[in-house]
Amino acid sequence: MAGVDADRPRMRLDRYGQFKPDATLPHLPNGPGIAHVCPFSPHSRNEDEIAAARFSSARYVDPLIGRFHAAYVGHVAEGSFRADGSSGGMASWTAVELLKERLVDGIAHVVPQTAGGEGKPLFGYRISRSVEDVCYGAKSRYYPVEMSGALDEMRRRPGRYAVVGIPCFVKAVQLLRLEDPVLRDRIPFTLGLFCGHMKSARFVESFAWQMGESIESIAAVDYRLKDPRRPANWYTAHLRLKDGSTRSRDWWHLADGDWGAGFFQNSACNFCDDLTGETADISFGDAWVEPYSSDGHGTNVVVVRSPELHRLIDRAVEKGRLNLEEVDSAFVVRTQAAGFRQRREGLAFRLSWPRLGVRPAKRVPPSFTGLPARRMLIYWLRSAISAQSHRVFWCARTLRMPQLYIRWASTMLALYQGITYSRGWIGRLFGPR
Ligand SMILES: Cc1cc2nc3c(=O)[nH]c(=O)nc-3n(C[C@H](O)[C@H](O)[C@H](O)COP(=O)(O)OP(=O)(O)OC[C@H]3O[C@@H](n4cnc5c(N)ncnc54)[C@H](O)[C@@H]3O)c2cc1C
Repeated sequence: MAGVDADRPRMRLDRYGQFKPDATLPHLPNGPGIAHVCPFSPHSRNEDEIAAARFSSARYVDPLIGRFHAAYVGHVAEGSFRADGSSGGMASWTAVELLKERLVDGIAHVVPQTAGGEGKPLFGYRISRSVEDVCYGAKSRYYPVEMSGALDEMRRRPGRYAVVGIPCFVKAVQLLRLEDPVLRDRIPFTLGLFCGHMKSARFVESFAWQMGESIESIAAVDYRLKDPRRPANWYTAHLRLKDGSTRSRDWWHLADGDWGAGFFQNSACNFCDDLTGETADISFGDAWVEPYSSDGHGTNVVVVRSPELHRLIDRAVEKGRLNLEEVDSAFVVRTQAAGFRQRREGLAFRLSWPRLGVRPAKRVPPSFTGLPARRMLIYWLRSAISAQSHRVFWCARTLRMPQLYIRWASTMLALYQGITYSRGWIGRLFGPR
């Protein structure tokens, strides 16, 4: 994920549309051991250890969201950050503020790339050095990315940088900073995005298929088209085609649009116990509780861990530039209830399954007992859907038979929703939840 040396193996998209190193090296030449910088390695420091060292003066320590100074719910009041962002616009606002205050010279974040076909990713990390460029990158990308190019640029070009990333990327950056004095000096800030899981590149390809298009015809993708007249949690996927026309469809009308079912999830996410980016100086998520989830303008939850960023935010709240209200950790946890179930109860259950190869070392102990049979079935089914979706899609793609995948996905969705939400005839078999 995060390169540690110029001679390291490069990352490439594999046949399932996921980044993999193009060679395996147990120990990289002239660099720190991969075992110490990989966020999923059982030999690297865990989130608690990294956060204890970095945020030693934190006012609060919560078992689910980690160490923090303050937490907020709200949105950006100034400019078009909120309208342009996926939720309340706070991630882009903070990145811009760091640039304007000259606390950094560049922001490493994920932006659209010139759309291409086979092997050319639709999104990638870039270092933005102007307010306009940072704003151009607004919005969430549920798409695989890797940051070796951005890290190379930071090493080559002296300056101070902030990195925006999902929790495992931020953890990788923090682990790299511990090993690499150049990056330690040059990356004073990390901005985390809460993360339910990461998708493969096939997720958007499947959206295109279901809208009657091929991935080659896509010029731009918005995973969450904003419509202030509709609840924020009614996601709409929006595709702009190379011929200038557009296609859009609500996620719930897509065979794989139920986030909880886990279609195209990266397998590493099965072994993640950090939802809120516990090693980031500040993290941003969506406020998935009422009345915020019904507000189509979008609302952030924000967890601040760095005292310097806390002061920056406080000053902006006082001036009315941000519309934020302080909340406690229980509120933040409530906004991510399903995610935490999957990352704690579900993780404990998954860790108890027999497994060959590396055994992940997590902050959650394995546990096979104590769950109702139906919950166990949901965790097992979610895991099976995420693993099989890669293979079935690959098969359908190779045979050029989109319907093969779409029919399979629709069947799995009906099964998942029947068991999980008691929907349809499968739901009647299982009875009420
Ligand atoms: C894979 C993924 C899963 C997520 N899961 C959850 C979840 O379960 N619960 C939840 O509350 N929130 C989740 N989020 C975060 C949420 O979607 C918003 O990104 C967050 O609330 C910030 O919104 P904003 O309006 O403040 O950000 P914006 O102002 O829209 O700015 C977003 C910033 O993040 C950068 N960015 C976008 N995608 C990526 C990426 N993949 N990697 C690194 N940087 C990126 C952009 O370049 C931009 O700088 C997830 C995000 C991602 C990418």
